Formats: sequence, C-alpha cells, structure tokens
Amino acid sequence: MFDYQLKKSKRRKTVAIKVHDQSVTVYAPHYVAQKQIDSWLLEKQPWIEAQLKKQLNAVDTKQYPLIHNKIKIFSDWVKLSFLESSLSDIQEHNNVLLVTHSTRVKNYNGKYESLIKQYLEEKLAAYIEMRINYYCKIMKEELPQKLSIAIYKRRWGSCNSRRELTFNLHLIGAPHAVIDYVIVHELAHLQYLNHSKDFWARVEAFFPDHKIASDWLKTQGTSLQWVF
Ligand SMILES: [Zn+2]
Repeated sequence: MFDYQLKKSKRRKTVAIKVHDQSVTVYAPHYVAQKQIDSWLLEKQPWIEAQLKKQLNAVDTKQYPLIHNKIKIFSDWVKLSFLESSLSDIQEHNNVLLVTHSTRVKNYNGKYESLIKQYLEEKLAAYIEMRINYYCKIMKEELPQKLSIAIYKRRWGSCNSRRELTFNLHLIGAPHAVIDYVIVHELAHLQYLNHSKDFWARVEAFFPDHKIASDWLKTQGTSLQWVF
C-alpha cells in the first residue's frame, strides 16, 4: 500500500482522494472507520497508482536529484523548484528559486547545477564587491586587483601577493556578518600575508566580533557545504 494523509471532517459526506505532488490525501467524513477507508483505498489502488505514475512522468525525479531540495542564501532557506520551459532561466521570488530549463536540454542535472551555481556565484560576488568597497574605504586600503569565487574544501577565502582575493562559494549560505568577517580577514592579508599579531590587530580594529564569526565558521561551516 502507499502512504497517505487522512483528513477527517464533520461536514464532509463522501470519501475523496487527491493525488498531488507525489502524495495522496484522503478526505473522509468523521464517522467512517479506518477499516472502511482501507478497503475503499484497496479498491481504488490501481487508479491511485496510475495517477502517481502519470505525475512522475511529468516530473521525472531521477532526472531531478535536487527536487524538494532547499538551499541557504544568506542564512535564509530558499526552496528549489524546477520547471520545463521554452528557455533556461533562474528566478528568486518569495524564498523560492525557480529554475526552468529548455526542453531541448539533454543533461537536466548538469544544466540545473550550472544555472544554480552561476546564480549563487553572481549573488555572492555582488555582495562581496559591495562590502569590499565599503571596507577598503574605512581600512584605507586600495581595492584588490581581482575578486573571484571558487569552491574550496578547507578554506573560506584566500589572498595572494598579487592582491587577488578569492572567496568560497559556500559562503553564500552564511549570515552577512560572517561573510563580512571573511572579507575583513582577507583584506587584512593585503598588509600582512600571515596570521601574525599585527594581522589580528588589524582584523580586530575593523571587525571586533571576529572571534564570534570564526567560531561560527568552525561549528556551522560544514553545514554550508552542500550539492557542489
Ligand atoms: Zn588568513
């Protein structure tokens, strides 16, 4: 038998089934016994299974491993929703990230991943760029030569002697304050390419809560590393 949700009501006179989004809901009058519902469902089983299969064909879950998934953007959960459309696109609206792909696309997974990744990269880069402008002003630092976003396993950001800064894409799920800390940390490396006392004094001067932010990354950081 399949899983279903039972909704009993005093006003209802008949039993009804709704199959939607791969789940079955049974509506029944309050006086109907469970046994009656079970035998009725058994009778209706072929129809229910046909409905489930039909909906499954419409959205093939094997092709959509991210389905029902959600991701964090700046510490808010955003639900992922997938749809076939005439063109590939991605839009965020009311905590839903709607990803559409053209029916001509062969590799759905790859297309979705690249669309989502690109979207998150642009979103994170836009935020970081804005904050770098702000912090460079107050730190009296020249703007970095280059800003990139990459996927790192063990670091949140990096800075080299060519003044090129890279930030981990997984930061997109973190609270703004934590991202700000990583920005100040990397900008402080423009003066000190080490973790010396002077380096930490510079971080402290422009981000006094650095300990809270770095503790957050130590304890919650792994929760940011999903899908990619
Ligand atoms: Zn560092």
